Parts: sequence; structure tokens; C-alpha cells
Amino acid sequence: MPEPTVDQYAYTIANEKAPLKKPTGGALDCGALGPLDRVEAMDLTFSPEAEAFRAELRNWLSAHVPTGYGTDAFEEFATLDDEFGFLRRWQGTLAEARWVGVHWPEEYGGRGAGPEENYLLQEEMAAARAPEVINRIGVNLVGPSLMTHGTQEQRRRHLARILSADEIWCQLFSEPGAGSDLTALSTKAEPDGDHFVVTGQKVWTSWAQYSDFGILLARTDPGARRARGISYMIVDMRSDGVEVRPLKQLTGSSEFNEVFLNEVRVPRENLVGELHQGWSIAQTTLAHERGTSPRQLVIHRMLLDDLIRLAETLPTDDPRRDRIAQAAIEVEIAKLNNWRTLTRRVRGEPLGPESSFIKLYWSEMSQRMHDTLMDVLGPAGVLDGGPHAIARGRLLRSYLYYRAASIFAGTNEVQRNIIAQRVLGLPR
Ligand SMILES: Cc1cc2nc3c(=O)[nH]c(=O)nc-3n(C[C@H](O)[C@H](O)[C@H](O)COP(=O)(O)OP(=O)(O)OC[C@H]3O[C@@H](n4cnc5c(N)ncnc54)[C@H](O)[C@@H]3O)c2cc1C
Repeated sequence: MPEPTVDQYAYTIANEKAPLKKPTGGALDCGALGPLDRVEAMDLTFSPEAEAFRAELRNWLSAHVPTGYGTDAFEEFATLDDEFGFLRRWQGTLAEARWVGVHWPEEYGGRGAGPEENYLLQEEMAAARAPEVINRIGVNLVGPSLMTHGTQEQRRRHLARILSADEIWCQLFSEPGAGSDLTALSTKAEPDGDHFVVTGQKVWTSWAQYSDFGILLARTDPGARRARGISYMIVDMRSDGVEVRPLKQLTGSSEFNEVFLNEVRVPRENLVGELHQGWSIAQTTLAHERGTSPRQLVIHRMLLDDLIRLAETLPTDDPRRDRIAQAAIEVEIAKLNNWRTLTRRVRGEPLGPESSFIKLYWSEMSQRMHDTLMDVLGPAGVLDGGPHAIARGRLLRSYLYYRAASIFAGTNEVQRNIIAQRVLGLPR
């Protein structure tokens, strides 16, 4: 079976949002289950404005996405530095056409776009196999946090450069002893005249080795407990005392790092928000990590197509075929989870703890699909290169990469705790 073209994916996605109508609101009679008054209606269509946005974007992408990117035909980068440089230039190209941070207000260089357009941006980029925005932490986490809590000077200095990727940002939150329980962090920032002196260690810091700035959580009041006494500040990653050590991952790449901060002097003007009030600002930052995941949806739909293609040679009674059918069902469920959350966003409703469903569901779906993939590939599936490697090792690297999906953006155990306590009302 030939590789489906970009247009085929885009067509499928566009036409799935058929103008079906579901009864909205109210209780739904579920037979033996009784009325389910928590059933939520979802919109199954995009607004005409969002469709126009999609058409303009699709046009632009068809003219600008680097040929073959994301396929086996694309020449691999010799080094991570080369890949990073390519991605940084790509973000610059996107930004010139105002396709980065479309959800930012126009005064800061965005398009003031709503949740539908932002969703479509991610969906269309993935469907066109466009490279991802490299400065995601800057665009999705730092920018909105500075807009809400930063000073005029901080916004003036950083926001435009975040969009253009002239400044790359990292997130200096996790520590060896503080990940899920981030309030246990021990990096300290001591006031010294018009500076803070920061000492501590951070870990799993994505793209720190290429970053110009980092958002840092550090303890400024050693006497206060847990979330109290934490401050949020901007660290220039080129400062004396910042040492970045790349960590080698399962995939062989080194996208994340350990960061050692040894008496790093941070100007007081780099404090974001009030002293000791960093935890509430961190909540703004972390809230932007959750929500819909259209990019993951498209990626896993493409993975399903890979699986279907590979399974063509399996005997009809092979049980792996059932697992592929199961994967198809799960991708549909993931899509509906996304649409339900998008509907809430469009209506201006808070996401609430239910947003944990999305992360939990797609990440476990991903790992099940990748397990099936490896079973279908057989022994050649573990080859990362050479003449016998399947898809030049791309599928293997995808399998290895998505092992991390149950950890990043809040581990799945933590998502389950949230659902148990805050959705189901179970005791802590
Ligand atoms: C690809 C990737 C990129 C990342 N990028 C960044 C980054 O740029 N910046 C940054 O700051 N961090 C980053 N992280 C770190 C990430 O946020 C943490 O890994 C995550 O918060 C979990 O923390 P931890 O690794 O310390 O595990 P821990 O919190 O130590 O957890 C260990 C295990 O215990 C379980 N556990 C912990 N608490 C509970 C509980 N209360 N109930 C039940 N089980 C529990 C966890 O689920 C997990 O299985 C990244 C992680 C990954 C995988």
C-alpha cells in the first residue's frame, strides 16, 4: 500500500468534522444505567472563521514544509546541533508568516486566535508533517506566564524574541528530589543587594543546552513550608555558574539535561510576580501544559496507518490483527476526548480536573499501539540502522520516545490521583 499523502490525512481530518448534531446539554437516558446527567455535549463542527483559518494555513504549509520532512525519505541530521539549527530557522520562517503563538494577543505578535484556531494549527501542522516549533516552552508556557504576571519591561524584552526563536527558553522546575511533588524543591535563591544568588540542581530540562533563558522555581524563604516561599524568576543561561550537562536518552538523542546552578547571580528585575508567590505563577505555566493534544492524535492516526500497512501480510487468524482493530477504536476515543475538551474551551468553560483524562488516555493508548507495532515488526524492529532496519529505525525511535509519555506533563499515576480525588471524590 503506498504511503498516504499529506492531503489524504488532511482530507480525512477535515471531513470527519461532518455537520452531525448531537442533542446538547441535559440528561441522557442510558437505559439500564439510568440518566447520566454528567454527559457533556460536544461541538462536531468548526466555525466558518476557523475553517477559513485552516484553509489559509493549509495553503501556506503546502508551499513551505521542507520536502519529505517526517518521512523515511528525509536525510537524517548528522548531529543534534544541525537538527536544532534547522528547527530554529524553521520557527523563524513560521514566525515571519505569523504562524507561531497564534493564540497570543495581537499586541504581542500573535493573531488573538481562539481555541479552535489553536487546535487546528497543531492538527494541520502534524497532518502536513511540518517540523514542530522548537521554542515550545517559550511560546506555550513562558509567553502566557509573562503576559499575565511579568513586568512591562520583561514583556518588551522577551515576547517578540520568543516567537521568532531568537531566544530559546527552558523550564527549570524539576529537581532530583522534586518532580511530581514539585513543592519539595530545594534550589535556593538568596537576596544579595539588587540580585538573588541561586544555588541548586535541576534535571530533565528539555533543550537547556541550546537555551538563552530559563524560567526557574527557587526557594526564597527557607523558613516557609512547601508551596509557600517559592519564587519564579528568569535566569540567563549564559550566566556564570550555570552548568548544563546533556543526558543521553533511550532514543540515543540528548534533548534533555541536568542543570547545575552554582551561586548564579540573577538580577532582582528578573523576578516574575511577587517575591515568595512563585507557586501560583507556576500554576499558570503548568495549566498551559494540559488540555487537548491534536498533534498526538494525528501522529497516532499516522502510526495506525503504518500498522495497517505492516499487517497486510499477517494471516487472517493472527491475533495481532485484533490489537490493530483495538488501536483503531482507541484513536477514535482519543479524538472524541479532544473534541469534548475543545468544546469546553470554545465555550470559555474551565478545563477542570477532567483534562487529566486526555493525557492519561492518549499516553497509554500510545504505549499499547507501540507495543503492538513492535510485535508486528518482529526481530527487525529493533534495528536502528543498516540495510535491514525497517523505516530506517524511525518506528523503533518512536516506540522508545513514547515510553516517556506516561511521565512528562505530569505522570500517569498523578493523573489517576487527580481523577480519583477530584473527579470521583475518593478520599486522599
Ligand atoms: C521527555 C521529558 C521532558 C521533560 N522536560 C522537562 C523540562 O523541560 N523541565 C522540567 O522541569 N521537567 C521536565 N521533565 C520532568 C517531568 O516533569 C518529571 O519527570 C515528572 O514531573 C515526574 O517527576 P520525576 O521524574 O521526579 O518522578 P517522581 O515524581 O519521583 O515519580 C517517580 C514515580 O513515582 C510515582 N509517584 C510520585 N508521586 C506519586 C503519588 N503521589 N502517587 C502515586 N504515584 C506517585 C510517579 O508516577 C512515578 O512513577 C521532563 C520529563 C520528560 C520525561
